[in-house]
Formats: sequence, structure tokens, C-alpha cells
Amino acid sequence: MRFSSTRSGNDKVSFSRAVFQGLAPDGGLYHPDEEPDMRELFLGFDNTSSFVDIAAAMSARLFAGEISEAEARSIAEEAFPFSPEILQLDDDIALLELFHGPSCAFKDYGASFLATVMEHFLDRGIVDGGSAGTGARKDRAIILTATSGDTGSAVAQAFHGKKGIDVVILYPSGRVSPSQEKQLTTLGGNIHALEVRGNFDDCQRMVKEAFIDPELQRELPLTSANSINLGRLLPQSFYYAHAFAMQKNRGDGEFYFTVPSGNFGNLTAGIFAWRWGLPVSGFIAATNANDVVPEYLSQGQFTPRPSVHTYANAMDVGNPSNFERLQTIFHSDLERMRMMISGSVVSDGEILATMKRYLDDRGVFLCPHTVTGVLASERFRAGELKGDGQIVTLATAHPAKFNEISMKASGREAPMPRRLQECLVREKQAELIGNSLEDLRKFLKDRLA
Ligand SMILES: *Cc1c(COP(=O)(O)O)cnc(C)c1O
Repeated sequence: MRFSSTRSGNDKVSFSRAVFQGLAPDGGLYHPDEEPDMRELFLGFDNTSSFVDIAAAMSARLFAGEISEAEARSIAEEAFPFSPEILQLDDDIALLELFHGPSCAFKDYGASFLATVMEHFLDRGIVDGGSAGTGARKDRAIILTATSGDTGSAVAQAFHGKKGIDVVILYPSGRVSPSQEKQLTTLGGNIHALEVRGNFDDCQRMVKEAFIDPELQRELPLTSANSINLGRLLPQSFYYAHAFAMQKNRGDGEFYFTVPSGNFGNLTAGIFAWRWGLPVSGFIAATNANDVVPEYLSQGQFTPRPSVHTYANAMDVGNPSNFERLQTIFHSDLERMRMMISGSVVSDGEILATMKRYLDDRGVFLCPHTVTGVLASERFRAGELKGDGQIVTLATAHPAKFNEISMKASGREAPMPRRLQECLVREKQAELIGNSLEDLRKFLKDRLA
């Protein structure tokens, strides 16, 4: 398959180019140029199909011509030593737990696949361009990324130990939680944590400036791994197909997914799976108070605005970048989008109350993001679910990652998984730097040139 920008369909590129380039040169997002029909493939899977089976089969189809079937299999095996699990909450509402990977959040799926395919392409000298332009080499990449806390840990874990790749993560000193800082700074090796004397905006600005700096571009193979990268987005479609395969023996009523959403990458990946033939009747987009997409669905106006802080902070996005991809899929036709996506907005008060209710009534800890989805699913069932349909709610993070919110909701903390506990006792290794491009340049040239 070829990929083109959401802004102009002319410049068609390969998957490897889209992966190393990140953003299209015209500022748009790379997007599949075709909609392959995978209906037969999807219907052939059942609850004996492993996540790796499904990931391998779908990648072989999506990246045919660039990645062979055997390569797709070995990439899937390497990227996914973890897999989703289903927790049935009710007859018709299930959780799809996506937090069994190394950083305990769904972003592990995209980050791990991206890291594995980048290593695969570099290993074979298949680097078709890259944001660095002339600085791009065919056997080496330096990933530069800024994080406000949570998203960096999935990238750090995913790229740790990958051949030919260094990762430089900038984070604001004193502004990430102690456990988030440990997840970023204790890996070492090819993962370089830079603790910036400044705020998150400074970190983002430094990364942006580095990408357009002619000297750095010339000398270093810089590339990005942010969430708009197709190499992170496309693999998220795999778990929708896997969930369908695991649940289809529960009846042949209508099938819905509820997706706790911020930047709308996860939802977009589900929409891709449906466009490629997954028999889904609809998607429910759950948001916190940052409700620009639900507002668009109800009122027809898309009004991006600064984000507001909520208890589900990984969803605090006021201008979701993947809305551009959704508009491309639905041809900017509000009615078409409405037929497939409904919005549901959940307040901070409802987040706490629902977390407490699930703990009190059923002994289930839910993270503040997941709980927006669970409440949205309950509302949808009460209103629009007919007959023996089922709703699968994506559980986006492990509840123990957000125990401060759990304490607020119920006075109790979710048990910490071993892999989170272990990183808390390891030693922080970070380099403290100033907040200018020159500080970053010095680090890059001294340490990675
Ligand atoms: C990133 C994130 C989300 C939002 O996902 P999008 O793809 O940005 O919509 C939801 N929950 C958690 C825990 C996240 O980390």
C-alpha cells in the first residue's frame, strides 16, 4: 500500500518513508491511500487466533511489497510479547485491557511496532528519506522526542536496545511525577533522558527547532516517533480485529467499540479496521471535558481550543490532530461521520463517581481514562443498544498508574504490577540541561555525532 498526505493526495510514499518522515512535507498527516478489503481475513479469525497471528496477517496485507509474510510474522513476534485481554464486566459490556505491555498503557502497541519496523528497515538499509533529509543515513537513526510525562515511557521502553537507534527524550525538570520520571530515566543504554530546566513547551520548542536546524539536519539522522506517525497508528488497528475474534462467539448481534479519546489516534485506528471490513456497527468516542469532537458531532462546528486539565490527563487535548484523518475518511461529511461515531462527554465528577462505583460494587479498579469509556458504554446501552449487541470498551491504561486519582475517588490504591514496581527502585540517569536549542545541540554533537 502507498500513503499520501491528508492535505494533498499527490505525493504517494512507501510505508518506510512515512515512518521515517513522520509528518508529510506539506504539514499534513500520512494516510493510507487505499482501503484494502480484509473482510475474509477478519472473518477467518476466532478465539484461537493469537494477537501475533492477527498482527502478522494484517501487516502482511497492509505492507505487501515492502514487508514479506515471513518478515511480518517475525516483526509481530518481536514487537508483541504481550497481548490484550478481555474482562467481561456484564453480558454486553466487556473491557479490552490494553495495559499488559511494558509501560502499562495502550501506547505500548504502537511504540513497540514502530521501534521494531524501524530497526527492521535500518538493518536492511531501507531508509527512504527521513525528516533529517540529507542527514539521514541508511543504518542509523536518532529519535528526538519531548514528553510531559506519560507518553515518553512507552517510546523509551519500546526502543530500548534497538540496534542503530538512539532515543533522546526531553522532559521538564520537576514537572513529571516521580514514577513517570523513573520510567523515562532508568533504562540507560541507547535511551538518553534529558531533564530540561524549563517547562513542557520549552521541551517541545527545542525539539521543533532541532528538526529545522540546517546544521543538525546535515549532520545527524534525526527522526521523530510521535503519536501521529503511521508506524504507531496502523498497528493499533490490530487489537480491534483481535477483540472481534475473541468476542464473536458471544452472539451475532451488533458490535460496538467505545474508545476513551484525546488525540483520536486510537479511534482512527478502529475506524481503519472498519473501513477494511471489520463488521462493527459503530464507535462511541468518550472524552473528558475536552469535548471538541463530541461538540462537532452534535453541533456541526469544529472549534479547537486550549485544553483544560482533567483527572484523565492523557486525554487533555484541545485540538486533536487525528481529526484531520477522520475528516479524510468521512470526506468531511458530518452525516457520514455521525452514522459511525457518537460522542459522549464525561466530567471529572463522573470520573471519580464511576471509579468508586466499580470498585465498591464489583471490586474492579479502573483508570480515569478507561472509566470515561465505561460510563459512555453504559449510557449507550441504556439508549441505543438493541437486542443482543455487545460493546467492547478499550481499557487504555493500568489503574495503578493513576493511583493519586484512585485515592481521591475511593481512598484505595490499585495493586502495582511488578514491572512498574521494579522500575521505581532503579536509579535515575538523566542529564540536566538548559532550555535552549544550543544546549540540545551541544548534547547531540558531543554524545551522538
Ligand atoms: C494517549 C491516551 C489516551 C488517548 O488516546 P488517543 O489516541 O490520543 O485518543 C487515552 N488514555 C490513555 C491512558 C492514554 O495514554
